[in-house]
Amino acid sequence: MAELKRLSESRDLTRIERIGAHSHIRGLGLDSSLEARDASEGMVGQLPARRAAGLILQLIRQGKIAGRAVLLAGQPGTGKTALAMGIAKSLGAETPFASVAASELFSLDLSKTEALTQAFRRAIGVRIKEEAEIIEGEVVEISIDRPLSAAAGSAAPSGATAPGKTGRLTLKTTDMETVYELGGKMIEALGKEKVQSGDVVALDKASGKVTKLGRSIGRSRDYDAVGPHTKFVKCPEGELQKRKEVVHCVTLHEIDVINSRTQGFLALFTGDTGEIRAEVREQIDTKVAEWREEGKAEIIPGVLFIDEVHMLDIECFSFLNRALENDMAPILVIATNRGITSIRGTNYRSPHGIPPDFLDRLLIITTQPYSEDDIRKILDIRCDEEDVEMSADAKVLLTKIGVETSLRYAIHLITSAALACQKRKGKVVEMDDISRVYQLFLDVKRSTQYLMEYQSQYLF
Ligand code: ATP
Repeated sequence: MAELKRLSESRDLTRIERIGAHSHIRGLGLDSSLEARDASEGMVGQLPARRAAGLILQLIRQGKIAGRAVLLAGQPGTGKTALAMGIAKSLGAETPFASVAASELFSLDLSKTEALTQAFRRAIGVRIKEEAEIIEGEVVEISIDRPLSAAAGSAAPSGATAPGKTGRLTLKTTDMETVYELGGKMIEALGKEKVQSGDVVALDKASGKVTKLGRSIGRSRDYDAVGPHTKFVKCPEGELQKRKEVVHCVTLHEIDVINSRTQGFLALFTGDTGEIRAEVREQIDTKVAEWREEGKAEIIPGVLFIDEVHMLDIECFSFLNRALENDMAPILVIATNRGITSIRGTNYRSPHGIPPDFLDRLLIITTQPYSEDDIRKILDIRCDEEDVEMSADAKVLLTKIGVETSLRYAIHLITSAALACQKRKGKVVEMDDISRVYQLFLDVKRSTQYLMEYQSQYLF
């Protein structure tokens, strides 16, 4: 559990780094009737696709998406990844989003089914609830085996406590007096809070945390208004016990990795997780199923985005067919910019290179190229996101570049132009900064042109 907690605290950081280019996307930007707002939650334009994604959201929420997947078809840089992330964000802050390019699945280290399994499990969240037992009561007596030294003792109010070795705390709850054996940590906490007899405290037995809630009003068996901060609520049994929920959110893949003997926690940061044994996964699935049954854990199906899906082969598609039937399956969003092409691993051709049985499962959304106005708005949002101040002229130029080349290229120029501006000790990015980086970094069109002109000087 401690490892899971450490994990859930640190994972946000790695997530943010991996998805930097889309950090401005906070949802799909839809209103309450699922109509797309022109620009909202970091999303701009692409209205029909966003509207369609809104309907998908509704299907997901009504539990009607099982066995189906979403295909986003459109040219590069038309916001396919952004849309998939928008769906994940709209499903809630805890919804995991995993993104992989189909070509990444073909590596020498992992079999493609292992790589796909890991991708799937990165998109399945587990919300683990831990219960901390909190006991509230009035302090009757505190006794510490090794009392305060005379000097420290005189500085503290009478009856106050400070670090000692061991001791006992007698608490009066509504119907009984309970004696707690105290360890160093709890004694320290009592000292910090300057707890004295007559105070009302909350005691977290697991963590040893003591919180002072107020003073008792003296009617120890009739606590309805004790001190300014708290009101004692009588439990049916008359016992003052509170249970507090502590929640950790992790993904199944993260649990796999930290439980895999050969890997461990750090592998999550290097991404070098290697093959995970089937037995480890089986044990984890059994454990999670137990937790679910006991109400300790909940599964949060996330969104798995697979880009360049035409690069998947027939075996991967049969894996996907099966994986979609699993009750923990994430929402699968795939994307491609290919038309009719051959299905990898076969001699057949089909729309998007996808086999007909898988095509049958798909809800298809197309994305359209952006207008100049949309590009300007997206660049504006990215400037804000990256904390880059840019003059109006420079923005006009950058928008023009975005129209002529690609949105993604223009977005990249924001960061490099800001560096050029910093180098000349400027505060606001100007047209000159944009021109400089435009000349330094080629877009695809100019790069191709260059290659054609100087073809003879290359080996092949
Ligand atoms: P590819 O096919 O090359 O993977 P893509 O269609 O997935 O491209 P994205 O990567 O989503 O395109 O878009 C390029 C950049 O533009 C990203 O930074 C993305 O967040 C941003 N972007 C795209 N569409 C929108 C939009 N409608 N609103 C705001 N930002 C967008």
